Amino acid sequence: MSSLFGQANGDDPKVPPARRMPRSNMKDRIARLRYVTLVFLSGCVALGLVTWLCLELGLEAVGAESLYLIVIVLVSLLDSFAVSALLSLISVFCLDFFFIKPIFKFQMQFKDDMPALITFLIASLAVTALVRHIRKLGEAQSEQDLLLDLTHDTVIVRDMIGEITYWNRGAEELYGWTKRDAVGKNIHDFLRTRFPLPLVDITDTLVRTGRWDGELIHTKRDGTEVIVASRWSLQRDANGKPHATLESGNDITARRRAEELLKQSQATSLAEAQKLSRTGSFGWDVASGEVFWSEESFRIFEYDPGVHATVDLIIQRVHPDDRARMRRLIDFVTDTRQDFDVEHRLLMPDGSTKHLHVVARAASDESGDLRFVGAIMDVTATKQAEQQLHEAQTELARVTRVTTLGELSASIAHEVGQPLSAIVTNGEACLRWLGRETPQLDEVQSCVTSIISEGRRAGEIVHRIRTLAKRDTPAKMPLDLSDVINDVVILTQREVLNHQVALRLKLATGLPPLLGDRVQLQQVIINLVMNGLQSMNANGNAPRELTIESRQDDDGHLVVEVQDTGTGIEPENSKRLFDAFFSTKPNGMGIGLSICRSIIEAHGGRMRASNNAGRGATFQCSLPPLQDAA
Ligand code: ADP
Repeated sequence: MSSLFGQANGDDPKVPPARRMPRSNMKDRIARLRYVTLVFLSGCVALGLVTWLCLELGLEAVGAESLYLIVIVLVSLLDSFAVSALLSLISVFCLDFFFIKPIFKFQMQFKDDMPALITFLIASLAVTALVRHIRKLGEAQSEQDLLLDLTHDTVIVRDMIGEITYWNRGAEELYGWTKRDAVGKNIHDFLRTRFPLPLVDITDTLVRTGRWDGELIHTKRDGTEVIVASRWSLQRDANGKPHATLESGNDITARRRAEELLKQSQATSLAEAQKLSRTGSFGWDVASGEVFWSEESFRIFEYDPGVHATVDLIIQRVHPDDRARMRRLIDFVTDTRQDFDVEHRLLMPDGSTKHLHVVARAASDESGDLRFVGAIMDVTATKQAEQQLHEAQTELARVTRVTTLGELSASIAHEVGQPLSAIVTNGEACLRWLGRETPQLDEVQSCVTSIISEGRRAGEIVHRIRTLAKRDTPAKMPLDLSDVINDVVILTQREVLNHQVALRLKLATGLPPLLGDRVQLQQVIINLVMNGLQSMNANGNAPRELTIESRQDDDGHLVVEVQDTGTGIEPENSKRLFDAFFSTKPNGMGIGLSICRSIIEAHGGRMRASNNAGRGATFQCSLPPLQDAA
């Protein structure tokens, strides 16, 4: 490579095959010997001819010397120094024999003729060595040109004023200009180079470090542009002075375009994915207050993408009921530099509500300023689905309650029938007391008081039944667990009697209140009582006992337990009891326990079932007291 910059070195790879024989190769050695012999013989013939010509023309020794020298130079162009040296020696003998007196004898005047012959010999050897050196330089240069032409990369050499001095075949192929077109031109004008940095900066780096690489845009002969990955190296002369720059480069236009396309398609896919998943992304630079939104984020907030996003703009959209909470959150996370994960609502200009789930990670930029990056998920559809599911569950629970009431109808009829017959009996007695000659008004008063009290009792039962059957939205209020159990006992006591079951109540007094929906909790206990009664249907002579207990456990939870002496739970069913539609009863729907569990969990509690040590099973619900629930 260095010979491109005016020096030649290295071996002689471009010598014809016959002349660079590896010693090991016998065939090549013979061919080489043959060639050298041929050249030598040709040289001898040429010397003979020159001698004959000189004798014919009657030339003196000086004339013959010149012609011999020409022959020697020509032969040295063809072969090695050894052949030329040998021919020089032969020429000396020929000069002595044919041209130095006495002629045709190998005799001479040492003093007069010897210096001339030695001068001739030295001159011929020097010329031969020089010719050989020049020839080798040329061959090395051609060899390097050939090698540089083999590479697909462009290799261009320019001097310090930018004039092209070398242009390889790769450059010809890429740019469409031949070596002849290019050499001598100013490279940057010729290729209309566009630099990634100011040229002075690039030159500065090149001079300082001896190298530069970067991407350049060049214009080809046909006017199209190419992006070239270019590597520059500075060449210095023996004194360290820069004297040329070698630029090698390769065409990366296709790669860059493919990358560009990939980038575009990734950006498009990302935008598309955000759109499909209704998830936008954002960045928030706390120090400057700048907020960066993806296209989808603008869509979620229903702001024009041209709008300059700020925290205030976001707060404007936040639902008024969530605004104070969001402000507190923003203050908190900016103070503590914490990640956050929050759900809040937006109130849109058309009055609709959107539910968002926002997750963000706190990070610091190079200068330590706080930034948040995160995702905004529009979960409105999920929330609506959850709401619908909740409504469906509430309705299912109501329907189940009504079904249970159907099962309790005999007991209910009895409960309502008893006060009614008492009312009738009291009414008749009233009439009798009034029909006396002297109406017994104090008796009448006592009967009417009784009628009113029985009427109230019947009214209360009807009210309870109506409440259970009503389509009310769940409403939580402070409740006494034992009160709720008592309500259930009134509604189910007849059913208990019908099943010939002994009911035992172990109700704690003075329990702390819990926060709950009365109707829903009644429903849970009714369900557990009815299941307990049914489990004892096949008890035969075995005792039929149902115990309902309320208490506060060691953790402070309020517990209601319904224990029976029925069949107990089959071990293989224990894991599925609370699954919807699991039933072992011929006409069972299998949703009672699943509703019970969802009601208890909605109250922040837990439900479990286990077999008793003796007969039967115990179902237990534990609920947090009002204090904890709040
Ligand atoms: P269903 O009463 O319609 O079967 P539930 O969800 O109330 O639906 O009960 C599911 C199943 O749990 C019952 O079929 C029964 O196998 C079992 N199970 C419920 N309560 C008891 C109990 N007290 N004793 C034994 N098994 C019970």
